[in-house]
Amino acid sequence: MAIFHSPKESVKALIAVQELDLELDKLAAGLAAVPARKAAEEAAFEAQKGALAAAKAELIRLQVEKKSKELLAAEKEEEIRKHQRDLNQIKSNEAYKALENEIAFASREKDEAETAVLELMERIDRAAAAEKAEQAAVNALASSLKGRLAAIDAEAADMGSRADGLRARREALLGGMSADLLERYGFLRDRLRGLVVTEVSGQPGEKLSCGGCHMRLRPQEEVDLLKPEGFAICGECRRLMYLRTTIFGAAKTQ
Ligand SMILES: [Zn+2]
Repeated sequence: MAIFHSPKESVKALIAVQELDLELDKLAAGLAAVPARKAAEEAAFEAQKGALAAAKAELIRLQVEKKSKELLAAEKEEEIRKHQRDLNQIKSNEAYKALENEIAFASREKDEAETAVLELMERIDRAAAAEKAEQAAVNALASSLKGRLAAIDAEAADMGSRADGLRARREALLGGMSADLLERYGFLRDRLRGLVVTEVSGQPGEKLSCGGCHMRLRPQEEVDLLKPEGFAICGECRRLMYLRTTIFGAAKTQ
């Protein structure tokens, strides 16, 4: 059952509809951002798992390197022992000296390999600590991820039910509105950014201007504004303009 509303009430209802629509726009934007927010949470977890894998790989690489340096040191030690045994069988001075050089060279290589092993042990300690820290971070994220995703879902559900409530209020307002006004509003809303229904600034008898584009009202627009409908269409930006004193009967108090 359509209830009769005066044109003024119709404009008042339209202003309320616009307020609801702006709220609904915000909720729609919030809901639209939900998949990206959840994806970002998942991506942060994947990135942390990647950091753990890299830390593990570095630890293994250092352990392999240490093993190879240990083998090299053992090889050099064996080589030195063999050369030292060989020294006893050597008759010529020249060959003896050459072998001594071989031994000195192998000793240097063995020392270098042993030094490298010591350095690698320190690096392995640090890498193991780093791996442990990355693992702890992965564990922390893994246990909180579910909760954070659930919080986003709960927020989305809340936005959804708030939107349902706003839509119901919107629906109730539409019943008392002129179809023509509503159609005009819908048409402008699709084409304009921001407010479609806008308050005129200034008072009758003074300079009046559109609250949307701030252009001074033309004489015909001023005449329309003072009619019982209480609204006019801006010739400049096409917004629906109303005079607060006509629609609400009092000056804006803020
Ligand atoms: Zn305008």
